[in-house]
Amino acid sequence: MKIIDMHCDTLLECYQKKQPLRNGPYQINLEKLKKGGCLAQCFAIFVVSHDAADRCGVSATPYEFYREMVALYQKEIGGNPDLIAPAFCAKDIMSNQAKGLMSSILTVEDAVAVDGCIERIDEFFADGVRMMSLTWNYENSIGYPNSADPVLHAKKLKPFGIQAVERMNELGMIVDVSHLTEGGFDDVIQRSSKPLIASHSCARALGSHQRNLTDRQLKLLGEKGGIVGINFCAPFLEDYATLSSIENIVKHMVYIREKAGIEALAWGSDLDGIDGSILEYEDYAGFPRILDALAMYFTEDELDQINHGNFLRVFRDNAG
Ligand SMILES: [Zn+2]
Repeated sequence: MKIIDMHCDTLLECYQKKQPLRNGPYQINLEKLKKGGCLAQCFAIFVVSHDAADRCGVSATPYEFYREMVALYQKEIGGNPDLIAPAFCAKDIMSNQAKGLMSSILTVEDAVAVDGCIERIDEFFADGVRMMSLTWNYENSIGYPNSADPVLHAKKLKPFGIQAVERMNELGMIVDVSHLTEGGFDDVIQRSSKPLIASHSCARALGSHQRNLTDRQLKLLGEKGGIVGINFCAPFLEDYATLSSIENIVKHMVYIREKAGIEALAWGSDLDGIDGSILEYEDYAGFPRILDALAMYFTEDELDQINHGNFLRVFRDNAG
C-alpha cells in the first residue's frame, strides 16, 4: 500500500452504470485499487453542468447533484469497511493503513455547486470534502476555465473566487487549480496561504493541450510547495496520441522533476474520466508496471515522495 492518486472520475461512472464500487466495470474499483497498491484514492464528485449534464441525463441543479453524489460516495465507501475507510486528514491515512485499510478522500471537481454562497464551502467541508477544483470547463461564480485563447486564459479569479480561496485555506480544504485559467492560477499562487494542488495536469512543453501547465506555472507551483498529479489522458501526454503509454508518463515525471522539483510530483490518473485513451497498463491494477518503469529514473526515496510523501505533506499543511 503506497500509492496516493489525486483524481479519478469513478464516482460518476458508478452513478451512471449503477454497479458496485467494490468490483464494478470501472478502470478503478476497490479490488483493483487493492491489487495496484493503493494507499489512498481521491474520489472526485464531478459536478456535471452544461453539456456534461445533458450527456449524463442529469436535470438536477449542480447543488442537488452534488448532494446526490455525496450520498452515493458515503454508501459505497461505508459498505466496504473490510477494504477502505474515509480519511479527513493525513493522520487518518496512516491509521487506516495500520488497520490494513486503504483510504478514500472525497474531493470536488468544479466549484459550480458553491454558486456564490460562501457557506456552501463550509457545508462541503463538513461532508468530508478535502480538495476542490475551482472550475471545470465553464465559467462559474469563482472564475473561468482554461482556454486555448490567450485572452480568455489570462482571466483572473472573480472577487468571490478570492474569498472562496481564503475560506478554503481557513477550513483546510485544498485548492485544486486543474482546469483553471493561468490568470486564476496566478491569483491562487499569490493569495493562497497553503500549498495548492494541480490534481490532474501534465507538462505543456511535452503535450500542448491547454489543460497542461507551462514551465512558468510548474516553477511557481514548486516554489510555493504545491504538487501536480500526472494525468494519464493520452492526448495530454502527447499531442494526438491515443495510447496512454508508460513511456510518456515517465517522460512527464522526469520533465516535471527538472522544472518544479521532486517535491512537486504526484499522481492524478484521471482514470474513468479518459474514455478516449487506450491504457497500456489496462487499468489501476496495472500501476506496478508504471512504477517499475519509473524506477529506472528515480531513486527509492524519490519514488516514495511521488507515490505518497508529497501528497501527505500538502494534505498535512492544509487539513492537519
Ligand atoms: Zn478534469
